[in-house]
Amino acid sequence: MPELPEVETYRRYFEATSLYQPISDVYVEDKKLLTTDYDTLNQQLKNHQFIGTKRVGKNLFAQLDAPYWLHLHFGMTGDLAYFKDDEDTPRFARIIFKFANGFKLGFLCPRKFERIGIVEDIEEYLSRKKINKDALEITVEELSKNLNKKNAPVKSVLLDQSTVAGIGNWIVDEVLYQAKIHPEKKANQLTENEILEIHKCMRFVIQTAINSQANYDDFPENFLIHARGWGRAGLQDIRADKCATCGAKISISKVGGRTTYFCANRQRI
Ligand SMILES: [Zn+2]
Repeated sequence: MPELPEVETYRRYFEATSLYQPISDVYVEDKKLLTTDYDTLNQQLKNHQFIGTKRVGKNLFAQLDAPYWLHLHFGMTGDLAYFKDDEDTPRFARIIFKFANGFKLGFLCPRKFERIGIVEDIEEYLSRKKINKDALEITVEELSKNLNKKNAPVKSVLLDQSTVAGIGNWIVDEVLYQAKIHPEKKANQLTENEILEIHKCMRFVIQTAINSQANYDDFPENFLIHARGWGRAGLQDIRADKCATCGAKISISKVGGRTTYFCANRQRI
């Protein structure tokens, strides 16, 4: 699932390819993907251009040269592809922004969980959807305030987008592993130092993922993510299911219904 690091990569791709070009047409294969009706969307995009982007958690907003934004949500498998010739149209490009210069930006929607639509006020949208500050923007004070009021496992609280935006399942496991905090520790029982560690590790893990453009194989050896077995065959065998720091077997359990990896030796309640 595209998480914050992937969406940040898409944001940079969008900026590098699709700004400052008049939009000549918008093709939509399946109107179910739209949160704004097609005629309105087409009218609000046609002859306008994208002039900037903003990302909050897994949400990408593209600013138009008009008082509104295009909101893109990448669902489970969404992606972007910029191309020119019709024969290069990627599979699953179910929405295509056509530019006056002949180039096109395809929004790839393999499983149709992706969504786009017009948003007039980002702050209003985020507050209506209960999406808090982005994980790279939230201050330690804000994070502390949001964690302190919840008597629930820290893992579940961090996954809740109303605590902080953009933290998905593998990221929260990695952050708690790096911060040496047990995923079931109650959020309101965290010490000030533990919250500082969470804030620091959250930035470190996300920045590492963005720097490697979300290629998990390139992550540092001491990352827990390798135990999830997503790497290339072979690498996966070597790293197996041992903690890279202490050698203990990685524990797998469910916290708040989500599969959770952690080192019981390193992460204490
Ligand atoms: Zn360990």
